[in-house]
Formats: sequence, structure tokens, C-alpha cells
Amino acid sequence: MPELPEVETIRRQLKEVLVGKTISKIEVLRAKSFAGDPKSLIGRKIKDIQRKSKVIEVSFEDHEKMVTVHLKMTGQLVFVDGEMRVSGGHPTADWVNGLHSKHTRVVWTFDDGSKLFFNDMRVFGWMKLVERTQELKNSRYQVPDVIDKDFTEDYLFNSLKKTKKPIKLILLDQNKIGGLGNIYVNDALFMAGVRPERKTDTLEKKEVSKLHKAIVKVINLGIKYGGASASNYVQVSGLGGTYQDHFLVYKREGLKCRDCESKIQKIKLGGRGTFFCPSCQK
Ligand SMILES: [Zn+2]
Repeated sequence: MPELPEVETIRRQLKEVLVGKTISKIEVLRAKSFAGDPKSLIGRKIKDIQRKSKVIEVSFEDHEKMVTVHLKMTGQLVFVDGEMRVSGGHPTADWVNGLHSKHTRVVWTFDDGSKLFFNDMRVFGWMKLVERTQELKNSRYQVPDVIDKDFTEDYLFNSLKKTKKPIKLILLDQNKIGGLGNIYVNDALFMAGVRPERKTDTLEKKEVSKLHKAIVKVINLGIKYGGASASNYVQVSGLGGTYQDHFLVYKREGLKCRDCESKIQKIKLGGRGTFFCPSCQK
């Protein structure tokens, strides 16, 4: 599943190439992958590509509707303009091979002949045509994303004070904080020196302050490296981001801590793999 840095990476890349393009055709090859009537978008010019939480939002000039895109487990967006390509999301050979492929679900064609392919092997992802005003009521708008200005130290402190649950579970709760997934939460807790199982009400203000800085830093590192690629695709050379080369504790169980002699341990917390250094994290 792509996390915020992976989604932000493809958003930035698509914004460079899609803004100003006019749609001439939309083919929906799998009904489940596109909600709404795509015909209403013909002749529309793309105004902006934004993101809130892990959802990409495509808006149009003089139009109240927008298209939201969630890549889920295996979704990918590939823009093709002659020899030029922009690929993001789940990294597979479809990033570079001829399209469409058997995983292509939706194809947008622009009036200059360029195309945007939405590929999704397992069909959990979606494109939805929605009213902007309705969409703003969606729960993802009720909390700040970790890279938003309103994700402050105070905001984090107040969200943690209200519960007694393990810190990691609260940080992953998208109804409290937007955009942290399993990779970056493990690494942020390591950077802050806080054990994932610590109960939130035991955290001192000083620790929350350190944690806030660590979260922002780790997410920005993820964006800097273009996100992380799932390990089973790393061998497809050159595909995907490279944050996996910089994991601090995530997927490093049994390996030496980057800061001390201890070995990284793995436990399950809330059903998810959880990684920490027993010496550096308290
Ligand atoms: Zn350590």
C-alpha cells in the first residue's frame, strides 16, 4: 500500500505534466474502478492535481466536480506522451512496458494524444467523480495530514492526551492524524526514542515534541527519496522510490541498530509488524 510519501511523489510528478491538458476520451475498462459518468469530463481542462491524506484529487477549470483517486494495494498511474513517461504508485513492469496491459482499468486520452493509464492488478483502488463541496465533508478533511501546517506539536500532544492506547496505534489512526502508515510510523518512533507499545498518557511533553519533529522529518525523507518500494519489486531495476535503502528499523529485525550494538526486534501490535531497538527506544 503506498503511504503518503509515495502518493505525494506521484502527485507532484503528475501535476507537472497534466495541468492544462484537455480530456478527449475516458475509457472505463472495469466498471468497479471508476464511479460516476466519465462522459461529463469530455472537453474539460485539468486545473490542478492536489492531495489530501492518500487521495489524489484532479480538479478542472470551471467545474464543481473533481476526480478523486485512491491507489490502495496495487494501483498505479502511468502518464504516456510519446517516449516520455511518468509512473507512480505500485511499481511493476507496467511502469515501463507497453500499455494498456491486462491490469489497465481506466484510460484518459487528452486532445494532444497523450494518455493517463490507471492500472490496478487487484482492483481495490478507485477513481471517483465527486462534487467538491460534498467531498470536503469527507473524514479525511477533519484532521491534519502530518505535512500540513496545522499538524503542530500542540495538536499532537492534545490528540495523545485523550487516550491510553499504545502510541503506535494512535499515530496510525487516520481519524486522528492523516497520512502515517506502517513504514514511517516505525521509523519515526525510533527517531524519537519512543517504544511503539508505550501508552500515550505516559508520554511527557518533551517526548511528544521530539516525536512531532521525528514524524515530520521521516515523512519528508520519504518524499525526498520518492517513497519506498515494496521489497518484492526492488529487483525491477530503477522502479519506485528508494526510501527502503534508508529504513531505520522497519523490516530490519535481527539487524544491528543504526545507533547502537543492539539488534532490532520485531513484535506484532494491532496485527501489524512493529520494529524497534530495545536499547534506543524507551
Ligand atoms: Zn539502538
